[in-house]
Amino acid sequence: MIYSVIVDLSASEVDRIFDYKGEGYDVGARVLVDFRNRPTEGVIIEAKSRSDYDESKLKTIIRPLDDFVAISPRMLQLCDHMCAQYHLRRADALRLFIPAEMRGNRIKSLCKQQICLATNDSLDVILNSLKPNATMQRDLVTFLYLNGATLAEKINVEFGNSALRALKQKGIVSAQDVVIRRMPYSDIRSSAAGKHSLTASQQNAVETVLSDRSGRYLLHGVTGSGKTEVYLTIIEKIVAEGKTCIMLVPEISLTPNMLRQLRQRFGDTVALLHSGLSSGERYDEWLRLKNGEAQIAVGARSAVFAPLENIGAIIIDEEHDGSYISDFNPRYNTVEVAEFRAKQEGALLLLGSATPSLGSYYAARQGKLRLIEMPERINKQPLPEVEIVDMTLETRRGNKGIFSEVLKQRLADAIQAGNQAMLFLNRRGYSSFMMCTRCGYVAKCEDCDITLTVHREDNRLKCHYCGKSYYILDKCPVCKSDSFRQGRIGTQQVVELVNKMFPDVKVLRMDADTTQTKESHGKILEAFSRGEAQILVGTQMIAKGHDFPKVTLVGILDGDQSLHHEDYLATERTFQLITQVAGRSGRDKDVGTVVLQTYTPTHYCLRFAARQDYVGFYNYEINIRQASAFPPFSEIVRILYTGEKEQDCIDELVEQNAAIANLKTNEPTAFLYLDKMRCPLKRAEKQYRFQILIKLSKDSVDRIIPQIYAVCDAKKRRSVQVSIERDPQNLS
Ligand code: ADP
Ligand code: ZN
Ligand code: ZN
Repeated sequence: MIYSVIVDLSASEVDRIFDYKGEGYDVGARVLVDFRNRPTEGVIIEAKSRSDYDESKLKTIIRPLDDFVAISPRMLQLCDHMCAQYHLRRADALRLFIPAEMRGNRIKSLCKQQICLATNDSLDVILNSLKPNATMQRDLVTFLYLNGATLAEKINVEFGNSALRALKQKGIVSAQDVVIRRMPYSDIRSSAAGKHSLTASQQNAVETVLSDRSGRYLLHGVTGSGKTEVYLTIIEKIVAEGKTCIMLVPEISLTPNMLRQLRQRFGDTVALLHSGLSSGERYDEWLRLKNGEAQIAVGARSAVFAPLENIGAIIIDEEHDGSYISDFNPRYNTVEVAEFRAKQEGALLLLGSATPSLGSYYAARQGKLRLIEMPERINKQPLPEVEIVDMTLETRRGNKGIFSEVLKQRLADAIQAGNQAMLFLNRRGYSSFMMCTRCGYVAKCEDCDITLTVHREDNRLKCHYCGKSYYILDKCPVCKSDSFRQGRIGTQQVVELVNKMFPDVKVLRMDADTTQTKESHGKILEAFSRGEAQILVGTQMIAKGHDFPKVTLVGILDGDQSLHHEDYLATERTFQLITQVAGRSGRDKDVGTVVLQTYTPTHYCLRFAARQDYVGFYNYEINIRQASAFPPFSEIVRILYTGEKEQDCIDELVEQNAAIANLKTNEPTAFLYLDKMRCPLKRAEKQYRFQILIKLSKDSVDRIIPQIYAVCDAKKRRSVQVSIERDPQNLS
């Protein structure tokens, strides 16, 4: 047999596919082959009887790498689809389908030695065969008799190696290798939790979704409407029919919460997949899905590639979230991938959100997704009341601080009443920059076009792009002055200010700096939900998903921070963020309030967000998109040129732009916009950045995209990386 093998070479810019000889392999299997006299890993992507090359010269596959077929035929189809759609190398796309450490054989199942009694004799009989003074041996036998098989490492510690060896020699105990499961979040137990009986609108949602098992749905349910319960009920039904499910949440920080609810309901049939797990955990969880031990995969976006067969449902919570679009190689759109898999499997696809992406809601209005509305909170609990505070008035009244008088008062009230509050500011660190008051010098990262943020805890300046850190300046490097002004307040400083206002109140902070380890998210959230602190300060990490019944006040400190980006997505993102944050308030019996501080109090985005009026916002914004031909009425494509040699980037950019301009001349109606420019973020991690921005009319995308890919493939300069992003979420 001849096998086409895709060779896994990270250095190569294009896929390398070669024919090898062999017998008895499956397509999709990982194999070791000889490539340029080196043993190299690869994946079989085709089996055929003839090769186009001289067969006598073909080498033979050295050996299989796994004792299972790593990539199923359907996943290979998905791979082909993704490569065509996003212009990926197959080797890169395939990498998404297996745990990273399987490559290079860096991870295996964990085997340990276990000791057990080798006879069925009664304890008395065994003890009688041992010398009365062999206390350790007698204790060990008794222990094994009572406790059953036990890990050798534990026996060695407690009873000593010599006792064990002696018993082995006598044939009384024996050792065997067992596979130990590495379980993520093993402290999150499967305990039976009470199910809620569904409300009428939950019931309606479940029935609608289950009425067509291969349908596509958008569940638009306000914050606190009980969407999770809908997901869980659907999963329960699908799993009971012998099918499998994938449940996606947008962020790693939200997985423990979802995992808890799933384990409570479905026990060990749940497997967790995300990049924050240890390599052993990830491998074991992946394998449990692969071999059918687990039927439910939960995780962040990479879990969409869960090695499941016979899928009955794919559910994507907070479907609008930007993290579902991978913006580095391999780039892909999780919702589109889920759509493809659902179609392959005849499975249902359920997207859920309180603030659906404009594209999804538009698709629903067009009838491409079936829309299900849950407009009310559980128990008819009202949505929180939002007060907009005009910070320009506050400044005019002489309050230069970050807290308005209203917010201070509401905070004091909430604390007084024994409730909890959340303060949201999407800027971490202490303050956003350090500037010389004499000459205006601002500290920037050496490698990135980014001003450095002041961090007080370790007293450093940090680049929020690459993470590099620097000494705090004591003198201006330009004019030697020692007087500095600091930029806008970040979360660290907010905590400091709150501590000053309320010295007796305990405050927690959740942002990228306080959540460096895998467990830290969970620890902060649990401490807050146990009431160990009355105030939680955080970035967008605190915005989503969390359900804290005692929170009655949410303060949004800088509501327009993300509003004034030039990006066409800025308003949509701001609306989503504010609605989500506001939705954390008043989820239980007490009515919630939200204080929204802004310098542009009349902006329509904030007005709609304050009323939590998604449909109103949608109707307004979709008209703007249509009038200006932005997505979903067109598709944005960005070609990004990065490299350490600035001139090479420019030359490549100019040449490719000319080639695309040619395409435009031939297809004038397809191109609604075409221009080349420096990126707003001019340099990052030593790499200069340039871009071509293209807007394509919706009906010509499929025709034009391959031509653009071809232009990019004709790249001439090795020092320049060219990457193409469809519907980029971030245009920096
Ligand atoms: P959403 O994801 O829509 O914001 P959640 O799923 O977090 O809302 O649900 C909000 C709260 O309502 C949770 O505390 C949940 O336990 C509770 N809840 C959900 N469904 C019911 C129900 N049928 N009866 C009572 N409480 C419910
Ligand atoms: Zn200076
Ligand atoms: Zn940097």
